[in-house]
Amino acid sequence: TRTPVNVTVTGAAGQIGYALLFRIASGQLLGADVPVKLRLLEIPQAVKAAEGTAMELDDCAFPLLRGIDITDDPNVAFSGANVALLVGARPRTKGMERGDLLEANGGIFKPQGKAINDNAADDIKVLVVGNPANTNALIARAAAPDVPADRFTAMTRLDHNRAATQLAQKLGAGVEEVKKLTIWGNHSATQYPDIFHAEVAGRNAAEAVNDEKWLAEEFIPTVAKRGAAIIEARGASSAASAANAAIDHVHTWVNGTADGDWTSMGIVSDGSYGVPEGLISSFPVTTKDGKYEIVQGLDINEFSRTRIDASVKELTEERDAVRSLGLI
Ligand code: NDP
Repeated sequence: TRTPVNVTVTGAAGQIGYALLFRIASGQLLGADVPVKLRLLEIPQAVKAAEGTAMELDDCAFPLLRGIDITDDPNVAFSGANVALLVGARPRTKGMERGDLLEANGGIFKPQGKAINDNAADDIKVLVVGNPANTNALIARAAAPDVPADRFTAMTRLDHNRAATQLAQKLGAGVEEVKKLTIWGNHSATQYPDIFHAEVAGRNAAEAVNDEKWLAEEFIPTVAKRGAAIIEARGASSAASAANAAIDHVHTWVNGTADGDWTSMGIVSDGSYGVPEGLISSFPVTTKDGKYEIVQGLDINEFSRTRIDASVKELTEERDAVRSLGLI
């Protein structure tokens, strides 16, 4: 029998945590033949709620779930971790300045990065979901100098999935027929969902759509502002689809992209496509055997260039802000 994979989830008692943990335990994160041990990290006042979720996990009798530990100590939570999903974060509250938000999250992600550095398994893979995800990933990564930088990633898969559905619906196709979409930049309203290299049912998506006005005025804003639209409609945030995207992100990273397709991940830039080295920005990537590579050689037109640059500018500003706060 296989050794269980240790999966650490922070913010485990939150909304996304509740939508995520059962799917991890049922085998959807890593595969239907991979046993898992869950480590749940919470702040002290939420530990009891996490214990309640753990009771429900027990009650599911998942054959692949080989244990659940709950703690408020990051060093314990990340001990031997193979996969870490950093979900818990300080949400932006009304009237909060960006600097305060970054500082509050620095207080969470810096110690977690250090705890990962000191305690995680050699093959640790980190996905940051908690916002501002790219910059939180940058902070955690800077606090973990002994861990290869490419193990720190930020989630743009939800944006990718949202874009796939919008495009499929526009063209009357199935989502499974959409390939090679790209989300560039920051997981924020400046993100750029790029369909110029995408294919739908074997046809170039931008040519099939043939409507730049729809692209600029409907598709891009719909994808970028989807989170707010869901809060408006449901009265609660998009926790289930965020959890689904976290599952997809890790599953694809571990198990590989299909031939003829790629995915989007926030990763440390190597300078490709003019994105300054070291920023955590979303790129088109292929994955294989637990590693990923940026898709190279794509032709970036003027429409795309302007939008990628705008999102990267925002990432640069966030990086400069956390640098001046001494967080990286
Ligand atoms: P959620 O579980 O709904 O969200 C958690 C984080 O995910 C937020 O930063 C949220 O960002 C982000 N997120 C990313 N994508 C999405 C998306 N599409 N839709 C919604 N959220 C998204 O928050 P809760 O408040 O329910 O739970 C957070 C939990 O984290 C609490 O239980 C808290 O105690 C815990 N926590 C744990 C910490 C730790 O383990 N050390 C530290 C801090 C908090 P956004 O703010 O933009 O909605």
